[in-house]
Amino acid sequence: MTTKKRIFALTTATLVLTGALAACGGQSAAPEESSGSTAPVESGAGTEKVYHIVADNAFAPFEFLDEATGSYTGVDMDLLAAIAEDQGFQYTVDNCGWDAALGNLQSGQADGMIAGMSITDERRESYDFSDSYYDGGQIMIVKGDSTISSYEDLAGQTVAVKTATQSAAFAQSIAEEYGFEVVIYKDSPAVYAAVTGGIDAAGFEDYPVIAYQLQTQSDLDLKMVGEQQNATPYGFAVLKGNNPELIEMFNAGLANIRESGLYAEIMAKYGIEV
Ligand code: GLN
Repeated sequence: MTTKKRIFALTTATLVLTGALAACGGQSAAPEESSGSTAPVESGAGTEKVYHIVADNAFAPFEFLDEATGSYTGVDMDLLAAIAEDQGFQYTVDNCGWDAALGNLQSGQADGMIAGMSITDERRESYDFSDSYYDGGQIMIVKGDSTISSYEDLAGQTVAVKTATQSAAFAQSIAEEYGFEVVIYKDSPAVYAAVTGGIDAAGFEDYPVIAYQLQTQSDLDLKMVGEQQNATPYGFAVLKGNNPELIEMFNAGLANIRESGLYAEIMAKYGIEV
């Protein structure tokens, strides 16, 4: 299959899945899940706004399912809870997954998005971002016993990435130079499975995410090759021009929790050095 055909086939599959998930980003009258916030409060002006936030669902340590509690946890979830508490705003969070979250933000179904999302110039055309809360870049991953040790070794191979990510953009930017084909997957677990299963010779993923997987899952048959590329700030996003007060509150709350030491505590909880 040619690169174009393959990407088209996978994009079609992604669209179908996104359609199935679209409901998860819808506005709901009552909070389905309020992390660290209480029910809407009646004020003189009526019911206080409950911001609807969407997030990734399999991007540890930023957001992932805690099997023990059955709820989503991670750096992004804790930062959002701490910032909302500091600033006194109400929110619900839907861990829709990266692809669905982006779709919901773009279509205005969500008020904000947090997902280890890199602040890029291209995204700034569609979204407004908060101040950065972390810097992360991309790294190549291969199966544990792979002999691939450089981009040159990718010639004639296929390389797995997650749709619409910086990893996808980076892989696509060097694919022609190194002679490999880029294969797009819907989420991070699908990328890891393609690499550990030998379907694709390598993949690209955010460095802190892979570092965390390797630390916490001893049975994950992956290793990193080379250095992190393009370290870029991560930020909280709103659709351009929408909910400017949410960005202001996020920034003010982030500054406060940096000051109070809570930010450092949250990062340390997930083993992230800052
Ligand atoms: N940081 C990467 C990006 O913004 C990946 C984010 C993610 O997969 N949740 O493209």
